[in-house]
Amino acid sequence: MRYADVIVDISLEKLDKTYQYAIPEHLQEVVTVGAKVEVPFGGGNRKLDGYVMELSDTPVFDPARTKEILSVVPGAVSLEHRSIRLAYWMKEHFGGTMNEALKTVLPVKQEVRNVKKRTLVLNAEKEQFAKYYELAVKRKYEARLRLLDALAEKKELDYGDAVQKLKISTTTIEAVCRDGIITLREETLYRNPAKGVKQTEKPCLNTEQQEAVDRVWQEYEVGKRGTYLLFGVTGSGKTEVYLELIERVVKEGKQAIVLIPEISLTFQTVRRFYERFGERVSVLHSRLSAGERFDQYTRAREGEIDVMIGPRSALFTPFEHLGLIIMDEEQEGAYKSEGTPKYHVRETAEYLAELTGASLLLGSATPSLEAYTRAKEGTYCLLTLKHRAKEAVMPKVEIVDLRQELAEGNRSMFSRRLKQSMEEKLQKGEQVMLFLNRRGYAGTVSCRACGEGMKCPHCDVSLTFHKGGKLLCHYCGYETVQPKLCPSCGSKYIGLFGTGTQKVEEAVLREFPGVKVLRMDADTTKNKGGHEKIAEAFAMGEAQVLIGTQMIVKGHDFPRVTLVGIIAADLSLYAGDYRAAERTFCLLAQAAGRAGRDKLPGEVVIQTYQPDHYSIVTAATEDYESFYTQEMAYRRLLRYPPVAHVLAVLVQAEEEIQAKEAAERIASALQKAIKPEERFGTVTGPVPAGLAKANDLYRFLIYVKSASYERLMEFHKVAGAEKVLTESSMKCNIQFDFNPLGGY
Ligand code: ADP
Ligand code: ZN
Ligand code: ZN
Repeated sequence: MRYADVIVDISLEKLDKTYQYAIPEHLQEVVTVGAKVEVPFGGGNRKLDGYVMELSDTPVFDPARTKEILSVVPGAVSLEHRSIRLAYWMKEHFGGTMNEALKTVLPVKQEVRNVKKRTLVLNAEKEQFAKYYELAVKRKYEARLRLLDALAEKKELDYGDAVQKLKISTTTIEAVCRDGIITLREETLYRNPAKGVKQTEKPCLNTEQQEAVDRVWQEYEVGKRGTYLLFGVTGSGKTEVYLELIERVVKEGKQAIVLIPEISLTFQTVRRFYERFGERVSVLHSRLSAGERFDQYTRAREGEIDVMIGPRSALFTPFEHLGLIIMDEEQEGAYKSEGTPKYHVRETAEYLAELTGASLLLGSATPSLEAYTRAKEGTYCLLTLKHRAKEAVMPKVEIVDLRQELAEGNRSMFSRRLKQSMEEKLQKGEQVMLFLNRRGYAGTVSCRACGEGMKCPHCDVSLTFHKGGKLLCHYCGYETVQPKLCPSCGSKYIGLFGTGTQKVEEAVLREFPGVKVLRMDADTTKNKGGHEKIAEAFAMGEAQVLIGTQMIVKGHDFPRVTLVGIIAADLSLYAGDYRAAERTFCLLAQAAGRAGRDKLPGEVVIQTYQPDHYSIVTAATEDYESFYTQEMAYRRLLRYPPVAHVLAVLVQAEEEIQAKEAAERIASALQKAIKPEERFGTVTGPVPAGLAKANDLYRFLIYVKSASYERLMEFHKVAGAEKVLTESSMKCNIQFDFNPLGGY
């Protein structure tokens, strides 16, 4: 008898282990490692799906009582051995159950039926057609006439269009088919999300680019695989380095994965890959349907493509011979998963590269402190591009002190410097980008008499104002109308506080009447392709001013932009977590990098209330080294990553006291696990989370620190055991986050 260790489809810690099942004779051939199977589970023999983790000849307990696998789930994508190892590694390093990890590494679970393209084709000679038409006129077959009219013109008609747009019933179509006037053509649709891009000639690499390529390639050719950090200023031509390396890897019969943060996954970026590799490239993004996604994975598995581009989940593309993984903008927060397992793509990619014998290339203009530290220590190999690729000069950057402006009586959103520059550029017909370094669409509402802010009743966050007087909670979706009087003091002086992109737009229109403005934020890009449409319109010169949040600074290349204005640079400094300065530096440096991308010289005006803050000063000169030194000093002092590793434990419950008590129990278990000689070993908390209440749940936090990640994994096990006990007895929910990026 053969046996299979199966992990069942239940994401519960206490069931997070494999169960052994016997493989019946008729399934011997098809039950392989990674196969999806159906098994009877528990006392009631409930039918559950599961994945086969391992096969063996030895039963772990009484063979007579070992249950049998019922079937192999038809059409399921089976996991390769590699994915299972990757999933196991992710669960160990980032928490969660094996089942959750498996779901992550296997983003498409079930085969999705191919889409058929159906076309109606005219099949009658002129004479026959005319006769048929006449008859239809005589008998007043309105629908049939609509169909014939459409076909007379184009000879072919999409089936869906005929039914939906021309409102022709399927019975009518069938009838005309039977009469031999038209035929139905069916083809399996090749779901390739972007097609029809022409290939272009590649540019000649400059010395810096060539050196970077050579370094990686020399090692690659002698079979050495490593992790490289390509540190290149904005516009230095990192993408060309990626393209060249991918081309070489592909020539060797290997494949490449290109990871891009979703936000910069624009057509502009993707097009360059299409231009080089044509149909051998595929793109994964969040707007693909399950079917399209399935197609792209299948094409990868079958070797029909060589390059997969996409955000996080593209890492799990099932390539047979992976040679290279590229991670562009490696510092981006989007590379950390918000769902469980809360994995970071960088570390996971490193492990996957090791498993598959691929090299990993990280690229950034403003590397994460983690990556740069590892490069300095020699764990990663550092490659640098110091100059912009095109003959563009670095933009001229100026910092404006907003406190000074106010002191001198300027209450507008624009400093005199920014206003003057805008005037100049607009006069010359050049383009301006205004960047509001903050998420959200609009400001928060508060009372000017008592200072009370309007807060969500379910969450500990301020409601934000939307046009039409609506107040929204961005956290839970709670919606209400703006009250006329302050609920606390009854004053009628309640109003908007802070700036949102809508307000910036209004201010521009007020100061520069008649100027064409486009706005790119979560509001205007909700629809499919909204993001791209706005970028396209701006690139085509349909507007002179583009206003936006984070989105406008990523991935776009607008050659006619000569001025970038940052409305309030310090907004992102108030985020209240240890990465606020790093994020601010990054955003500002990137925003500044948008100006003067081409031959026209660029100018950047940074408005701020904290003109001396190191993240702002260093970003203005794109002086990464200096920022790194100052930021590392702060991290060292407070023992934050990358100096130490942190495990955040979030405990949530409906009753405040319950959450607190459960958190205390876990904290004390952790405290006991810490050894006196442990380097940087500390347990802090429980303390109420920054967001103390969300969705009606009270939130408490514990932080455990250690210099060693392995020790953190052990602490996670200690807390995990406690979690199982605590959750069942104390009605709470406990989550873990390894080296969290945001605040809680
Ligand atoms: P990055 O990815 O570092 O921001 P890009 O690869 O987007 O930089 O390059 C910036 C611009 O310079 C692009 O328009 C690109 O086509 C151009 N470019 C890059 N390398 C070269 C080169 N060797 N010769 C000419 N143009 C180049
Ligand atoms: Zn009030
Ligand atoms: Zn809410």
